Amino acid sequence: MELVFATNNKHKLEELAHLAGEKFKLLSLREINCFDDIAETADTLEGNAAIKAHYIWDMFEKNCFADDTGLEVEALNGRPGVYSARYAGEDQDSAANLAKLLFELEGKENRKARFRTVICLIIEGKEFFFEGIVNGLITKDSRGTEGFGYDPVFQPDGYSQTFAEMDIQAKGKISHRGKATELLIAFLKSL
Ligand code: IMP
Repeated sequence: MELVFATNNKHKLEELAHLAGEKFKLLSLREINCFDDIAETADTLEGNAAIKAHYIWDMFEKNCFADDTGLEVEALNGRPGVYSARYAGEDQDSAANLAKLLFELEGKENRKARFRTVICLIIEGKEFFFEGIVNGLITKDSRGTEGFGYDPVFQPDGYSQTFAEMDIQAKGKISHRGKATELLIAFLKSL
């Protein structure tokens, strides 16, 4: 089955293609000739995932899904949350976001955080939501070179490595996106 994943992020496409396996042919926005910048204007992860998925369905009438992820830090009252990509500014600079996070947590004992992913799937115009959560801690220093975004400072509960010290398979098994995708794939297989 062809499914559009409303992203051009190659890390996410790789992670998803790996999890989805043979049954689904994932197409990126570029592959359907969609070069629009879809504005993520909602103030919830659910809202942003729905905006992106509905845009593709409305414009291209293709079965599709979109995700939105936030890093929710307990000591920061859930920030950066839905604003994770733009935490340090509109240019979405991962290094600056990460530096800002470490700065805001300086001297704080409570380093608990979670990644939360929401997926909005649209099949023949009908909307479905899936959620995945991974709990962990924000480390004091960056460690590792794999992955992207906040991976070098996120250490999932039960592990001594950060996400950036894990390979793509190991991260996918326990990650927020991995869990949300598992639910998505189980649902698609049941159709
Ligand atoms: P998005 O909604 O998936 O684009 O995620 C928003 C922001 O959250 C990204 O720009 C990253 O900074 C961060 N993020 C999302 N997923 C991950 C992940 O798996 N690891 C690290 N950071 C992530």
